[in-house]
Order: sequence, then structure tokens, then C-alpha cells
Amino acid sequence: KFKKKWATTLPKLPSSSLALQYFDINYSMQFGEQWPSIRISLLCEQKYGALVNNFSEKEAVMKNFYSSNATDFISDAQNLISLYTKEKNVSDELSVNATANLSSLSKSKLTCFTFSRGDISRFPKSRPDCFGLLEYYLMDASSLLPVLALDIQHGHSVLDLCAAPGGKTLALLQTNNCRFLTANDLSVSRCKRLQTVMRSYVPRDQRTDKNVQITTRDGRLWGDVENSTYDRVLVDVPCTTDRHSLLEEENNIFHRMRTKQRQMLPLLQTELLLAGILSTKPGGEVVYSTCTLSQLQNEYVVERAVELAASEHGVHVEPQDLSCFRKVFKDTFNFYQDCRVGELVLPHLTANFGPMFFCKLLRIR
Ligand code: SAM
Repeated sequence: KFKKKWATTLPKLPSSSLALQYFDINYSMQFGEQWPSIRISLLCEQKYGALVNNFSEKEAVMKNFYSSNATDFISDAQNLISLYTKEKNVSDELSVNATANLSSLSKSKLTCFTFSRGDISRFPKSRPDCFGLLEYYLMDASSLLPVLALDIQHGHSVLDLCAAPGGKTLALLQTNNCRFLTANDLSVSRCKRLQTVMRSYVPRDQRTDKNVQITTRDGRLWGDVENSTYDRVLVDVPCTTDRHSLLEEENNIFHRMRTKQRQMLPLLQTELLLAGILSTKPGGEVVYSTCTLSQLQNEYVVERAVELAASEHGVHVEPQDLSCFRKVFKDTFNFYQDCRVGELVLPHLTANFGPMFFCKLLRIR
């Protein structure tokens, strides 16, 4: 008998290949016949959206986008909403909750251009306007869905618990509704990137100490520091970042040395979401989001955190129905139909955004 020497005899596969093996096993079970189509989309170039900087001179930029056949997917959805509200039979089908979500969506001030389904044109690099502010921010357009779901209204205090490098923080500020925003991230180096994003897009008078605070705390402990404080909390957690893990070797969570860290992700995510729930005021809302397809990091985390909030803290939260998002954004994104809670954008070759999972919770008490 001999002892196998794993480390020396096994071929060293790149982390991205390990990720693909892992996804093939897990996601073929989770998505069945849909997996091959999602798989090929994940391996192909992703699509971007251009979030227009509301603080910049934006008219010329928007004109350019329209002339290159891009459209603002948020205003397209708003047009659909006004059609729905006119057609009485469609609005009758919607729950009270869905109607409230649609009404706040119809008031959103965010503007994000995308190319239509099947059009794989790319946006050029953003340039500074005459005041030195960059005109738009390129991001996966589906990353705006959690921000839209958060429904920030005028005067709200907002916490972004895992904020860096800052794409969603920037979108939160673009609503121009935050009375006060705390952007937190454990990583000091990533927070520096967040600060650069803020300086490049937001005028100085909109990011004073009175408006915006950037902190580098462990988000898991937030509930102890600021309990029941914020109107809105975004918990955009670290996850297996499926697209990145398949395409990049650098900082890959599937590296053999990071196995333990990867296995601990659902626990970390649950702790972060629980802290987010505790820091929300009764009557306030939390949005949990990830960029993974994994049910274990999405629905299971939400269900576990809801349970723990009630059993350990006597705090009651209710998952909200966001199915109206599926309806009004169907021309831009490809949604999964079978989430138990929340919504999931599936990558598709004609609309290669996502993965993006988001779930909204209302804190009852
Ligand atoms: N919301 C960001 C955006 O839109 O640009 C992306 C956030 S990224 C998915 C997750 C972030 O969580 C990482 O920047 C990571 O540094 C941070 N993080 C990891 N553990 C954390 C913890 N315990 N507390 C706070 N942040 C943490």
C-alpha cells in the first residue's frame, strides 16, 4: 500500500478550469436543460450598460448614445409601466406590492443605456465633461436592478454595507434622494478605488462629510454599532463571482489555497445579511444581491437570515414580490422563472448580462 501524493502527482488545473468543473456539476443539477445555454454565455464576452452621470453635462452624451442605437433601458421600462397602468386588466393582475414597486420604478431618475438584444456593440471609454466629471460609468446593467429594487425615496438614510469598488454606491447617489449615505467595505485597497470613483463622478459639494461617509469596518458587526438606523440597506455580498471565476486567474476564489474561504461564503453572506437587517429601521427595506447563480449563496442565504433574524433577535422581515421586474425589464434581461425568493438574471447570448440575484426584504418590526 502507498499513500497518494496529491500535491505532487495530480495535474495542477488552472482555477478557472476548477470553477468550470464545479459549475458543470452543480449548475447542471440546478438548471437542467438551461445550463448549456447559460454556460456558453458565461464563457463569452459580457455586455455592458452605460450609467449616465446625472451630475455631469449629460445632454450631448445621451444624444450620442441615441444616435448609436443604444436606448435607456430604464425609460423603456417606464414606458411599459405607463402602458400597463392604462390597460386595466394588466394592472388588476398585479399584487398591491407589485403595483407599489412599479409606481416607484416609474419615478426613477437613473439613466442607463444598453444596446438592444443581439447587438454586441461596445461603449467607448468615458470622458470628462467641461467640469472634469466623467460622463458615464460602464457596468453590468443588471447591477442596477438591486439599486432600483431598493427604491430610495427623498430624504432616506442609506447604508451600502459591502460597497467597493463602488458601482452601486454611485448609482445610489445618482438617485439624488439620499439624505445620508454610508458606504462601507472591509477592504482598504478596494475602498481607495471607491474614493476614486466618487471623486471622478460626484461633485465635491455632493460628497461632504454631511452627505457621504466611507468606512472600512467588518460589515458583520454593523448590527451592534448602528442598530435600527437606516431607511434602506444594500447588502451586495462577496460571492463566487461566477463570470470572473471562469475567465480570470487573478484573485480567483476557486484557487486551491482558497477552498476553505469559498466553502465559508454562505456563512459570511448570512452574517452580512443579518447585520444589514438589524441595521434597518422597522418599516425600512434591505436588498440582498450577488453575482452568482448558486442557490446556496442566493435563496438559501436569504431564507436562513430571515429565520435567524426572527429566532435570535425577534426581528421580522418579509421577502417582497419583485416579479414585476421580470415583466417590465424582459426586453433587456433574461430572467429565471423559478426562484423561491428574489429574482435572478440569467446570462444569455442575446442579452449577456448577469448573473445577478437580488431579493428585497421589508422589516416589519
Ligand atoms: N457593491 C460593490 C459594487 O457594486 O461595486 C461590489 C461589492 S463586492 C461584490 C463585495 C465586497 O464585499 C468586496 O469589495 C469585499 O471587499 C467586501 N467584503 C468582504 N467581506 C466583508 C465584510 N466582512 N464586511 C464588509 N465588506 C466585506
